[in-house]
Amino acid sequence: MKICLRCQHENDDQNNYCIKCGAPLRNICTNRRCSNWEQDVLLPDEAAFCPLCGSETLFKTFGLASSYLDISDEDLPF
Ligand SMILES: [Zn+2]
Ligand SMILES: [Zn+2]
Repeated sequence: MKICLRCQHENDDQNNYCIKCGAPLRNICTNRRCSNWEQDVLLPDEAAFCPLCGSETLFKTFGLASSYLDISDEDLPF
């Protein structure tokens, strides 16, 4: 089960994108020539840029990586 970062919908593990809102469920490099694609290594959810080539990640292009950090800042109760 994969929880969508944008709408919190529970998706099947094999889904690459949320069936409710279309947000990506796996964070990968957007540069298809990057070795990240050959190694099939998933990046952390909070990664905004690829550690191998510096290109934006899929989550970053969808605004998920940055909004994830913004929310954690504003949701502090004290
Ligand atoms: Zn969703
Ligand atoms: Zn890359």
